[in-house]
Amino acid sequence: MTSNALFYQAGAELPLISHAQGIYMWDTLGKRYIDGCSGAITCSLGHQHPAVTAAMKAQLDQVAFSYRTQFESQVAIDLGDALVALTEAQLHKVFFVGSGSEAVESAMKLARQYFYDRGEPQRQRFVSLRPSYHGSTLGALGLTGYEPLERPYEDLITPSVKVPSPDFYRFKEADIETHVEAVLSQTEAAMAAQPEDSIVAFVLEPVGGASTGARMLNKRYVEGIRTLCDRFGCLLIMDEVLSGLGRTGEWFAWQHWGVCPDILVLAKGMGAGYYPVAGILAKGDLVDQVQNQGGFMHGHTYAGNPLACTTGLAVIRAMQNEGILDNVRELGIYLRQQLDQLKARYDFIGDVRGIGFLQGVELVQSQGSKAPFPAEFNAFSKITAIAREKGLLIYPRRCLNGVEGDHFLVTPPLNTTRAEIDEMMTLLDQALAEFSR
Ligand code: PMP
Repeated sequence: MTSNALFYQAGAELPLISHAQGIYMWDTLGKRYIDGCSGAITCSLGHQHPAVTAAMKAQLDQVAFSYRTQFESQVAIDLGDALVALTEAQLHKVFFVGSGSEAVESAMKLARQYFYDRGEPQRQRFVSLRPSYHGSTLGALGLTGYEPLERPYEDLITPSVKVPSPDFYRFKEADIETHVEAVLSQTEAAMAAQPEDSIVAFVLEPVGGASTGARMLNKRYVEGIRTLCDRFGCLLIMDEVLSGLGRTGEWFAWQHWGVCPDILVLAKGMGAGYYPVAGILAKGDLVDQVQNQGGFMHGHTYAGNPLACTTGLAVIRAMQNEGILDNVRELGIYLRQQLDQLKARYDFIGDVRGIGFLQGVELVQSQGSKAPFPAEFNAFSKITAIAREKGLLIYPRRCLNGVEGDHFLVTPPLNTTRAEIDEMMTLLDQALAEFSR
């Protein structure tokens, strides 16, 4: 269906959505799709989750919107407390916004204001990874390490200092440990090359999403970055817009290593596709410092409204009541085994990586060469289109820089069952077989 007025997808003819239930979505022609990527890695509880929609309907009947400078809402307080509890009280303060990019910008501004208020206004530079993705707004784009997105706005964005992300697939050193040490010392050198006391924060995605095809950093690397942040006196910000809220089998990916950031950025899974709700969590002393100097000069109209917070709270409660983390831990291993089996059968699957229900598949010309398909071959969109035609939605990403291959993400709703994974894998297998022809 081609729209007259909308311009989201260049050249794409998309079906019209009709309705959805659980992991299934239907278009207006009656075709059924399995949502193998939770939309944009967002619909963590699938579609039409009864507890979430009931809570939202009840809130709508009471009050949908109240402005945060005019009223406090009990549900915002409760959601804040629930999030702090999920960090096991390692982070203490919460600020709500409406999207991932807004949350990233909020983290950047909070970090800057913290140092500004402390009398260190010269701390202005961010350090982030290449490749990475942190959002589409100009501030977040400055952190994002993905050249095609940065280029048209070079004069508008303030680029962060980019350091390489460890690459666990194409590393050149003898082993992963040596590679991680090499990346860390390169990072240390890049940070040391900045003017003294000029760094505000190091920003990273603990598990990349579309940017790296679900590349998960490791404990040694993240501990090393924490040490560097302490040494250079800057903050550590983790962007868990995609990896947060249960997707990796922990509430937050940093909990796999016990390395807590100073500011944590959340979005997608928080509203689980039911309402745009996002936010940042920060250490108490950091926020206190800002609040004691007049407060955080930031906010968006829809931030923390009752309907948004009701949605966020209902999502967390449903996840707790239904043991969703256990499901992700157990079936994440199963999903990975299934994808590894496909890799064993298809030579163009170079790498399967990730954790829990955040799995990435990298496409290459052959496993031996690890060479990416030529960009103009559009492997990522071919494979996604074939899968869609067969009734399976997966999340595509074009190869980043001609060095890495195209990839797609398999990121089902977190309450997906084993039988449903089997159903997804059958369709994926069919799609891969057709792609290989
Ligand atoms: N950070 C990360 C890690 C993301 O994956 C995304 C969205 N894909 C964003 C930030 C931006 O979020 P939004 O699209 O909600 O602005």
